[in-house]
Amino acid sequence: MHITYTAATTAAPNSTNEDHLAVGDGWALVLDGAGRYPGETGGCIHPVTWVVTRLGIHLSSCLSQQPEQPLTTIVRSAVEATMADHGSTCDLSDPLSPGATGAIVRVREDRIDWLVVGDCAVVIDQGQDIYTTVIDDRVDHLPNAPIVEGQVRTYSPDYVATVRNKPGGFWVLGSSPAAAEHALVGTLPQHAATRVLLCSDGISRLTERYGWSWQTVMALHESDGPESLIRAVRECEHSDPNPQRWRGKRHDDATVVVMRVTGA
Ligand SMILES: [Zn+2]
Repeated sequence: MHITYTAATTAAPNSTNEDHLAVGDGWALVLDGAGRYPGETGGCIHPVTWVVTRLGIHLSSCLSQQPEQPLTTIVRSAVEATMADHGSTCDLSDPLSPGATGAIVRVREDRIDWLVVGDCAVVIDQGQDIYTTVIDDRVDHLPNAPIVEGQVRTYSPDYVATVRNKPGGFWVLGSSPAAAEHALVGTLPQHAATRVLLCSDGISRLTERYGWSWQTVMALHESDGPESLIRAVRECEHSDPNPQRWRGKRHDDATVVVMRVTGA
């Protein structure tokens, strides 16, 4: 078995990139900072990028050093280590504490494992135009969610505090080890997949907002590489006649990793 990787990440225009990617021996991960709300500290003195980076470092370390562990165990360990890094300066019981959504894929000799939490995505190309998509859209199906119309159309922080990292709500990685057990996880036989794509929602908006199929996304990546997907997203965003119709930012950080698996 041989795995090659392509990857690209770019911040939204005029902002700091709160996405993070890493690849290692048979694994890849994408994180997307779940940021603060205006006027809210989330009980933490650290920038969102610090939290995302710490999570990325701990996840990478666990994936490299504990290849036999289930992904849920690895994620729980990484969240606990990140929480310890905050030290005594931060109140991690604040429900708006910064964190990240994430997608992790690990390819082993016999199988492919994945874990997704929050609005990152995993797309597995099984050949013959068959794609398994793993998208955690619980944040889009919250009960009675109030939308706030501001510079960014979003949920109100008071409401988010009642559903974030709570059963029946949605989960992010950062201040709740239990998020690992609430992630979407799955496994396929290794031979079932030729390519696996991981991305932040800055890329998956091609399918969610702009009507692309995953087949089209994969084909563009195949012909023009990962940066072409980010260019395509920006073109769609710039030509969007009414970006205020969407919940979330007009532009977002965009990150994609594609793993290609060859050989038996
Ligand atoms: Zn902190």
